[in-house]
Amino acid sequence: MTQNPIIVALDFESAEQARALVERLGETVSFYKVGLELYAAAGMEFVRELIAGGQDVFLDLKLYDIGETVKRATAQAARGGARFLTVHGSRAVMQGAVEGRGAAGLKLLAVTVLTSFDRDDLADMGYSCSVPDLVELRVRKAMEAGIDGIVCSPLEVASVRAIAGHTAILVTPGVRSAGAGKGDQKRVATPAEAVRNGADYLVIGRQITRAEDPREEALRILSEIGLG
Ligand code: C5P
Repeated sequence: MTQNPIIVALDFESAEQARALVERLGETVSFYKVGLELYAAAGMEFVRELIAGGQDVFLDLKLYDIGETVKRATAQAARGGARFLTVHGSRAVMQGAVEGRGAAGLKLLAVTVLTSFDRDDLADMGYSCSVPDLVELRVRKAMEAGIDGIVCSPLEVASVRAIAGHTAILVTPGVRSAGAGKGDQKRVATPAEAVRNGADYLVIGRQITRAEDPREEALRILSEIGLG
């Protein structure tokens, strides 16, 4: 497992709010996820600010477009210094991302099937397979395409690891300490369970960002996984 596996999701509507949280966490956390909301509000300028301040950035943009557009957007993310970038697990999308990344240090993570999707959603799109079968197929295709890792639920991380192999980077949202509010997450596991199942990184949002003392909360999670 990584030294400090916590990636804090900066799900905020402005750079000011995100900046305040990063300052409160200080050296306890050094990896942050910028998703669509904050990216739409503050863009690469804020991403570059985080990186200049010594933080690692996970750009969670879940890119999905024609290969050429994904390639060019990925090249920009790589140039900006992001460490992780998410793309959807479709063949042309993943190929475009791998080409756009080139020799940069950016690691590409595939989203297999959105966790909000169930079998009815797949049927709606014309797929007749089950969600686990599609996840498995997409993990295999991602590894074949040269993708570095997978975003997956902490409950499926062990089966994804079995397919993706030991060098794949497995990143799991949906992580909550026992007793912490689940919010709208349905399929959750504790940080210790996620790590035990083989997760390399844990994406944690509200449990830390909405805590009265975010730094204390992050330290508590680190001690739960034996890093305190
Ligand atoms: O607040 P919480 O810990 O639930 O935040 C989890 C973060 O991980 C959010 O930014 C959410 O968009 C993201 N995420 C998720 N489930 C996925 C993929 C991403 O919760 N399958």
